[in-house]
Amino acid sequence: MSKNLLFIPGPVTVAESVLAASAQPMIDHRGPEFKALLERIAERLKPVFGTERADVLVLGSSGTGGLEAAVGNLFGPGDRVLACPIGVFGQRLIAIARSFGCEVEVLETPWGSGTDPAALRARLHADGERRFDGVLLTHNETSTGAQNDMAALAAAVRGHGAYTVVDSVSGLAASEFRMDEWGFDIVVAASQKALAAPPGLAMVAVAPRAWERIDANLGAQRFYFDLKKAREFGALGQTPWTPPVSVAFGLDAGLAEFERLGAAAVHERHARYAQSIRAAAEALGLILFSQAGAHSPTVVAIRLPEGIDGDAIRKSLRESRGVVIGGGQAALKGKIVRIGTMGDLTQTDILGAIGALEIALFEAGAPIRVGTGVQAALKVFLEADQPAAV
Ligand SMILES: *Cc1c(COP(=O)(O)O)cnc(C)c1O
Repeated sequence: MSKNLLFIPGPVTVAESVLAASAQPMIDHRGPEFKALLERIAERLKPVFGTERADVLVLGSSGTGGLEAAVGNLFGPGDRVLACPIGVFGQRLIAIARSFGCEVEVLETPWGSGTDPAALRARLHADGERRFDGVLLTHNETSTGAQNDMAALAAAVRGHGAYTVVDSVSGLAASEFRMDEWGFDIVVAASQKALAAPPGLAMVAVAPRAWERIDANLGAQRFYFDLKKAREFGALGQTPWTPPVSVAFGLDAGLAEFERLGAAAVHERHARYAQSIRAAAEALGLILFSQAGAHSPTVVAIRLPEGIDGDAIRKSLRESRGVVIGGGQAALKGKIVRIGTMGDLTQTDILGAIGALEIALFEAGAPIRVGTGVQAALKVFLEADQPAAV
């Protein structure tokens, strides 16, 4: 199979214009061209985060490095944080906090749902002595295909005073994010998800309030991910350490494309693709893993019928049809498949992936009517774009 279509939720299919930008000759990372590049990236990212006040720092790392930077700079040994995991990536945030010596209390949520704002509000309200230093939140949980209502969670935290860290690695740029309005302290994203650039850069937006705590956190365990150093060098148009220059070229081109299309159109595309995949799954009689009201626009998680092994389905799709989709992680391994909507994908790509999935399911003996999924997905696209055709 020579041609592969990538439907995993990161890294994603990268547009040719972005790939071409990444292939430019190296430049001096302490010179004027890189300074202009870094400043342009930071400025273009601000509206994507929904901030005018925060500093947007670009770190040479995957998304996890950005999360480590957020937690490790804000908190330290003995600090108490309330973690609100809704899946595997929320659990990773807990592991990071524990590795920095934080005492972590967990507000549990059944996987597939978002954090209940009322439960969060109640837990923080019960913390009358304000003993929680931080709250850890996930915007979009890639492992379950669920997305939180961040406006509601922001309102639940407001008034308590705990510092918030938001993992928006697979959320940012695919739907509206309003960091300033919602009052989050640090929000983390990465280059290889909805901004559709190659992997290698984490983007960390730090609000003024977070800087006060970071500046006072003198015992923090940090070196490579020292946000104070990133801020100091950022002011000079540099990064403290050698950055992945090629990825920065790509991210800049990805942001240019985001601007050209407009945020509203990009958000609408992700929502529509996810809606069409969900419609296909439901038409095939498959059950979505995410609960109504919490569906993610960037990744659709689908339960497989009893007796069908998700990993075998993925292998068949990859080897026979050149379609690469995600599987279940941790406890969900083999039980679900995950189809990402991020990246340089067309409606035709989405329809092709659904058709390929139908064939693979049919060949594996799943009780589906081949063709019904594609038809339902097509209807979603036509209703939006060509209502006269439906
Ligand atoms: C992809 C992802 C990450 C970061 O993963 P890296 O492999 O370190 O880039 C973190 N959180 C979420 C929700 C993600 O989807």
